[in-house]
Amino acid sequence: MTLKGKIAVVTGSTSGIGLGIATALARQGASIMLNGFGDAEAIEKERSGLASTYGVEVAFDPADLSKPEEVRRLVAATEARFGRVDILVNNAGIQYVAPVEDFPTERWDAVMAINLSAVFHSTAAALPGMKARNYGRIINIASAHGLVASVNKVAYVAAKHGVVGLTKVTALETATTGITCNAICPGWVLTPLVQKQIDAIAARDGITDAQARHKLLEEKQPSLDFATPEQIGELAVFLASDAAAQIRGTSISIDGGWTAR
Ligand code: NAD
Repeated sequence: MTLKGKIAVVTGSTSGIGLGIATALARQGASIMLNGFGDAEAIEKERSGLASTYGVEVAFDPADLSKPEEVRRLVAATEARFGRVDILVNNAGIQYVAPVEDFPTERWDAVMAINLSAVFHSTAAALPGMKARNYGRIINIASAHGLVASVNKVAYVAAKHGVVGLTKVTALETATTGITCNAICPGWVLTPLVQKQIDAIAARDGITDAQARHKLLEEKQPSLDFATPEQIGELAVFLASDAAAQIRGTSISIDGGWTAR
């Protein structure tokens, strides 16, 4: 267990990629602060399941990351509960799809708040403690859309490019310390966030779910296969490990070749 005794906060970890990362970190011995929305019973089942399977402490905080004060409170609550934050995984994110001129202002604000501003607030809140202990791992879940664009995703693409920039600044400001900050840029991962887009393609084109999945992959992801939350979890474990101590300010793609072409 390479992360035995470490304390990790994973935002948006009640589902999809965040849950995959929380599970991978717990498997390596880290105690976890879960966060996100969802059914209280299902969340409690995940929490207690992770704790008993991996023999680590797991807590849950329902902070709404669209609210700056809640983001900062999540970090403070983790420090209060576990004594510190060693690993901060900024993962929570939402999507909205519309052409620029039809994009509702309220959706723009929500995507920017959750996908970008929350990363700023949690990082700002976690850094003083990390600096005091000269140790930290900040892992930001950006996207292939942090590196390249697609139509109809103006807020998401802008926010994820912003996360890549924020990651570089944080890495530079901590370059001589034991704190690293990096971004992971996934391509398509089959989670509820992407299933919604598959459902929309199936409805629009009158095709089956399997056909819609193929269509989605074919357009962007040369491997024609999804990356998995488990694979992204293992990449986060690597970035949190000692072997990654000099990986700073980079964006690592795990996208089936999406951004290679
Ligand atoms: P998901 O919808 O399965 O999970 C999102 C998580 O964020 C959930 O736990 C949800 O409860 C939480 N969340 C949403 N709004 C929140 C809020 N206001 N406060 C707190 N928690 C909130 O999505 P996912 O696909 O697992 O996405 C996770 C991250 O990965 C996102 O940042 C997303 O942009 C990114 N990403 C996903 C893909 C993909 O193909 N699925 C690709 C690239 C990047």
